[in-house]
Amino acid sequence: MAHLFQVGAGSGGMTVLDIVCRDSRITHVTLIEPDIYKPHNVIRHQFPSSAVGQRKADLAAVWLTERRPDLRVDLLPCDLLDPIHAAAIDIAVQACDLGICAADNEPAKFHFDTLMRRFKKPWTLGEVLSGGIGGFVHWFAAGGPCYGCVASFLRRSVNVDQSKPPDYSAPGGPAPETTIPASRASIEVIAALHAQITLQLLTQPADYAPGFTSLLLTLEKVPGIFDEAFRTHRFRIPRALDCLICREAMSPADLDRALDDALARLR
Ligand SMILES: [Zn+2]
Repeated sequence: MAHLFQVGAGSGGMTVLDIVCRDSRITHVTLIEPDIYKPHNVIRHQFPSSAVGQRKADLAAVWLTERRPDLRVDLLPCDLLDPIHAAAIDIAVQACDLGICAADNEPAKFHFDTLMRRFKKPWTLGEVLSGGIGGFVHWFAAGGPCYGCVASFLRRSVNVDQSKPPDYSAPGGPAPETTIPASRASIEVIAALHAQITLQLLTQPADYAPGFTSLLLTLEKVPGIFDEAFRTHRFRIPRALDCLICREAMSPADLDRALDDALARLR
């Protein structure tokens, strides 16, 4: 009996959702996806060309309930950051057991992270690199590193894809024009890995310990970036003590102590 909260039903997000919902433990899904299915989506997506013009959220619900008639699917066909829907989104996040982020833009990922930390929910994130040369899967636990900790760590230490991390899915979406679309094969590989890690985290939400917080799988040899195809890189990314996003707010007692220390130095 588990309730998933997912953002994004692009080609990668839909694959994650499809795989994860085959698991009978999942009984309830809340899906946020505002987009309409467009002609350029067809080449990378499960849905047929006859579905163009319909909302991806509705298509996802039909897809899932055709395979799992017992599954409850709640749709929020809105933008994750839309303040008009913030109260409904909060209620869904509070009620969920686990979050899946398949958003295609950085503001949505940071906002998803904020929601999950506010309600202390574990969650996972998949990212396919530009051109489909590889991808990341990250998992997050309450009290662990936030998405900001992870993104800044990887920016400092990994030489991959200096452009904006693309999306699972959205050529023509908010990703820059220069981003090379990933192939369906690359998207599926990383999405399946994302689904696998999500199901493992669901099994052990309190003590999941796969030996990494972020997993990078290379899919191609790219001179200057990846020496080999099909190599995994495991990152154990700690919480950054100076992270402006997730460091603890100071309690009044801490503030008093900090003030005392500051005054003592002035004496
Ligand atoms: Zn942080």
